[in-house]
Amino acid sequence: MTCWICNTRKADSREHIIKKSDITRAFGKGSYSGGNAPVHVKNGKISNLQGADSNKIKYETSLCKACNGASTQPFDKAYDKFISYMYANETSILKKRFIDFFDVYGEEFEKGQRDLYKYYAKSFGCRLVDAGEVVPSDIPSLFFKDSFSTGLRINFAVNEDILIMPNKDRDGFIGKGESTVWLDKYDNKKINGYTWSEHVSWLTAFFWYNIFPDGCLGSIWVADSQFIYLGSFEPLDNEQRKNLELKLQQ
Ligand SMILES: [Zn+2]
Repeated sequence: MTCWICNTRKADSREHIIKKSDITRAFGKGSYSGGNAPVHVKNGKISNLQGADSNKIKYETSLCKACNGASTQPFDKAYDKFISYMYANETSILKKRFIDFFDVYGEEFEKGQRDLYKYYAKSFGCRLVDAGEVVPSDIPSLFFKDSFSTGLRINFAVNEDILIMPNKDRDGFIGKGESTVWLDKYDNKKINGYTWSEHVSWLTAFFWYNIFPDGCLGSIWVADSQFIYLGSFEPLDNEQRKNLELKLQQ
């Protein structure tokens, strides 16, 4: 298989499904054991995670070493900065319900938010390959450009159900949602677009490829704004929420 980003070198590197830095931020460096160890859930199966570098939380090889390493490292760094900022400023972000990239990246915010967008674009591409889909060509071609047009739009929303959990429980709620392929109503071999999500604690990033974003889930962002305005959603129904509240009182 050829690397989906450069489309020239052999894919011999595995991208993390869940970022090592996200796991170590919440659980420490590991290895993990005992009651506070992270639990990994995939397709309904639960297993313990031994360490943040576990193969359980990596995709099959779909990138070359260069594209998964040095050339995309600034994107990973921008993401780490963003998530660290989110954890450190939780209270004020949740009160204001927006994020000013100047507060995250300083004077360099224009580049910072673009690199962050590229992190998410890489994450999205790896997920599509994992699902056996072809990554639309506008995605691999945006990584090394300062301005680009793409069908991938992102917005961010607060998961209100996770917010009712205490920090010690929600900080380790890290993962990725189900990806959905949107088929044409009249021609079910034709793909109209994709949607997906990933989350760290209450902050959920929603991905919309050629699908118009749900405005309830936040302002639309394509690496083109100093601010993101957070949307809001409640994935649990009333009964599930009541059960969660009862469980938290125990
Ligand atoms: Zn490559």
